Amino acid sequence: MSQRIAVYPGSFDPLTLGHVDIVTRAAKLFDRLVVAAIHNPDKTSLFTLEDRLAIMSETFAREPKVEVDTFSGLLVDYLKKKQSFILIRGLRAISDFEIELQMALMNRRLSPGTETLFLVPSVEYSFLSSSLIKQVYQSGGEAPTLVTPLVDRLLKEKYRQNEQ
Ligand code: ADP
Repeated sequence: MSQRIAVYPGSFDPLTLGHVDIVTRAAKLFDRLVVAAIHNPDKTSLFTLEDRLAIMSETFAREPKVEVDTFSGLLVDYLKKKQSFILIRGLRAISDFEIELQMALMNRRLSPGTETLFLVPSVEYSFLSSSLIKQVYQSGGEAPTLVTPLVDRLLKEKYRQNEQ
């Protein structure tokens, strides 16, 4: 029987426990889950693609169903390459809804048959975003209950470097 494969794309700049929550939920629903960091040269990111991938690899090393990868270009092309037609996205507060709906409909138009599945995280991660995390650490704060120990350490190192 063919495997059920889903793809969870995102910037993951950096990965938060909100992302991890979605990965854990999605992994229960599929035989294989590909967590794919977007390589977008037009968008400046705090962490390089290599760093984002390394963080994801470390975090999901003990999740046999989870594969980490990077991609550039059209998401629907990447989906085909991975022999999948299912996109996973996380839905937080209502602010995500409009843009996510737009993207889901565009991806279906570009590649009919593509389905976007929205998963809702635990309530404690519902207002969490990578940009908020970056703001907190940049301002000298920390949020060790919202990121992995590795991300906590890397964020502290990054912003400490910037201060010098
Ligand atoms: P993008 O730039 O694609 O929005 P993100 O890394 O910010 O990349 O998010 C990737 C996906 O993960 C999106 O579907 C986003 O809604 C979801 N996501 C981000 N943070 C959370 C969170 N705290 N809880 C649930 N889903 C989240």
